[in-house]
Amino acid sequence: MPVNSNKVSAYTIYVNRWGTLRLRCLRCGYLGPSDGPLCPRCGFPLIVEPRGVLRIDREKPSILRYASVLNYGNKAVTLGEGLTRIRRVNGVMIKDESRNPTGSFMDRGSSVLISNVSGEVKVLFEEDFTLSIATYANAAGIGIRVYVNPDHVGAYAELLRLSTMSNVTIEFSEGGHGVDIIYGEPLFLDGVKTIAYELYEQVGEVEGVVLPMERGYLAWRFMRALGNCVSGASLVTCRG
Ligand SMILES: [Zn+2]
Repeated sequence: MPVNSNKVSAYTIYVNRWGTLRLRCLRCGYLGPSDGPLCPRCGFPLIVEPRGVLRIDREKPSILRYASVLNYGNKAVTLGEGLTRIRRVNGVMIKDESRNPTGSFMDRGSSVLISNVSGEVKVLFEEDFTLSIATYANAAGIGIRVYVNPDHVGAYAELLRLSTMSNVTIEFSEGGHGVDIIYGEPLFLDGVKTIAYELYEQVGEVEGVVLPMERGYLAWRFMRALGNCVSGASLVTCRG
C-alpha cells in the first residue's frame, strides 16, 4: 500500500467521523464532538462509545472477536493481537500480555487507532507505545515521524527497533507542536478495553485485579469495560 502524502491529524478523525463516533466524558457527562482527546468542557480524557452491541466472534483468535464494539476504520489493521493466554504462577492467574506482536498490551490500541489513520503521523518517542504504533502503521503503509527528545533518557532497545523500520523517520527534537497521536487517545483505549472482555471470557467473575500503573489510562479504561461485565470487582494498581 503506498504511503499517502496527505497529512491527516488523528485528532481530525474525531470531528470528521462524528457521524459514527460517539465521544463521552465520564466525569462531566459531555457527549459530543471534540478536536482532541480531552473533554472540551472539563478537560478529562474522553472515551469513545462502543460501535454496537457486543457479539463475540469465537472464530477469531484476536481482539477481532470483539469487532462489533470496536471503532475500527474502513479496514481493521491487525497483526493477531489479543486473546493472550492466562498463566498460573504460584496460584495467581497472570494474563500474559507479552504474547502480543510487539510484546505489550499497546498492540490492542494500535490496531484500532491505526485503522482510522491515513497519511504520515507524528508521535513522541514513548518507548513501547511508539514502537507499537509504528509497527501497526508499517503494516498499514503509513509513515511515522518520531520525535526523540535528546535531553531525556529513553529506552535504547525500542529506539533501535524503530530505527530499522522503513516507515519511520526519527527526529531528535522535542516535537511538541503538531503531534498527531498520544498515549490515551479514545480510539487507542477503545482497543485496550478488550483486556477486560478477554478476562471475563477466559476466567469469568473475578474478585479483584492487579494492574501496573504509570499514568492510569489502562486501569481507568479496563475498569470501565470490566464494569460492563461484572460488578463488585476490586482493583489494585502498582507502579513499576
Ligand atoms: Zn468532561
